[in-house]
Amino acid sequence: MKHKSIAIDGPSGAGKSTMAKRIAKELGYIYVDTGAIYRTLGLFALSGGVSPSDAEGVKALLPRTVICMNYGDDGLQHMYLGGEPKQGGKDVTAAIRTQEVSDAASKVSAIPAVRAFLLEMQRDMAENHDVVMDGRDIGTVVLPGADVKIFLTATPEDRARRRYLELLERGSGEAYENVLREVMERDARDSGRAAAPLKQAEDAVLVDTSGKSLEESFQALLKIIRERIA
Ligand code: C5P
Repeated sequence: MKHKSIAIDGPSGAGKSTMAKRIAKELGYIYVDTGAIYRTLGLFALSGGVSPSDAEGVKALLPRTVICMNYGDDGLQHMYLGGEPKQGGKDVTAAIRTQEVSDAASKVSAIPAVRAFLLEMQRDMAENHDVVMDGRDIGTVVLPGADVKIFLTATPEDRARRRYLELLERGSGEAYENVLREVMERDARDSGRAAAPLKQAEDAVLVDTSGKSLEESFQALLKIIRERIA
């Protein structure tokens, strides 16, 4: 039986993960955060002393890169480096959420060999489960046949504000101006790269969450998805 798939793409801070998580829960699907996979590789490069911009160095890491993921009792997508937890893999779920790792993820993800390396892992999830998958190239590259495609966006200022509040909640004292700059740099890199750039799939529905509350955005998305999946 073919599983259902919902692709949610868009720039950082548009609310993809918050929306995708709620939609997955509502529909009984699995939420797959593909950014977490790139972040895990970014962290692996940083911890190995390899610059995330050094394409050759990062490529040389790939044969010894083992990234695993599972879903804990908390329903969270846990990421592991070095194998499954019972094989001694290290849980990096929290460690991948720093600004430094965001930046590293964005740099390693521009390397075509990295994207090719991580593609199967993402497609396997959708082969075996009903999924809501979020990322940058889900509707265009990973799951071009997805049942519903959403391109979620908001102004850079709105996205930076959300990211700033999220970091503040986690105890980071990062200034708003720095977060805005980082968001804009990441957008430019993600949209400007040659390999699977961030762009709206032709058949994706554009949803702009600027100025909308979480609840308004969620209801709007759910309506679009229900109509298309029915
Ligand atoms: O979504 P998140 O902000 O966690 O992703 C971190 C980085 O990983 C993004 O800035 C982007 O460069 C990269 N990424 C990607 N393709 C995806 C998901 C994330 O290139 N499908």
